[in-house]
Amino acid sequence: MRVRARRGVTGRVVRTSWGSATDRGRVRSLNEDSLLAYPPVFMVADGMGGHAAGDVASRLAVEEFSQLAGRTSATPDDVHECFHRTATRLRETVAAGSTAGTTIAGVAIAAHDGGSYWLVFNIGDSRVYRLSGGELEQISVDHSVVQEMIDAGELAPHEAVGHPERHVITRAVGTGADPDPDYWLIPAGTADRLLICSDGLTSELDDDALQAVLQSVADPQEAAQQLVAAALEAGGKDNVSAVVVDVAMANDSPDVETTVRAPDRAGAEPGPEEAWDDEIDGATIPRPTSQRPEVQS
Ligand code: MN
Repeated sequence: MRVRARRGVTGRVVRTSWGSATDRGRVRSLNEDSLLAYPPVFMVADGMGGHAAGDVASRLAVEEFSQLAGRTSATPDDVHECFHRTATRLRETVAAGSTAGTTIAGVAIAAHDGGSYWLVFNIGDSRVYRLSGGELEQISVDHSVVQEMIDAGELAPHEAVGHPERHVITRAVGTGADPDPDYWLIPAGTADRLLICSDGLTSELDDDALQAVLQSVADPQEAAQQLVAAALEAGGKDNVSAVVVDVAMANDSPDVETTVRAPDRAGAEPGPEEAWDDEIDGATIPRPTSQRPEVQS
């Protein structure tokens, strides 16, 4: 595994407070997103696969990452193990011949060289943003066909909105090869606010809309709820999930600290027994293996 580390000076203690919200949206019959918000880990998983297999996949991811809950910090190896256990359980759980997979994006509090860091992790097209010094920055990079076109200079970023292939992802945790997530290690800032979200949020709201809510709503739970409500207002074509994490730093204790609150842990709610409609616009789908050999589900 490769971890991209940013230089920075930190020697302080991370305290966090957080909020989360998820909704199945206005079109889907099931919520196949799952989320986890319990220090030291905050993540969302967006499941895919026919007939509710996606909700199983994203819930397995949350169950595996939950094993880190309650620790003061997590290492890149700890997080990588969670990806591997999720993939192993998916292979054991999903019937042979059927496909299921999930995106996973999030952050873990990491101690490194005596400082406090965010370990950002991603596979798929859920995202991690950081609001710092009034600037909203997308930390994670999507594993998507559209992102590849942007990287190749074939598409301007503003042309990605509404692109017909915008929901086709190039990596996931699935039933195929071992997962290949990206990692970034970022010094925790003194007043960071992090947003972790599924593509149901970012396909309805642009970065300016995200920033407007994140900058104007102080309470993280209220901010998460307002973001999800705004995505529903904008159409709610997909399941939508948001986790907002606030960081405050302190110098007075040698240990990483976190505020203690009941965990937010949301699996998909049991939905009606309706047939899954894979044709719904907005469905996150892996690209076909026949065309693109690196697909893993
Ligand atoms: Mn989605």
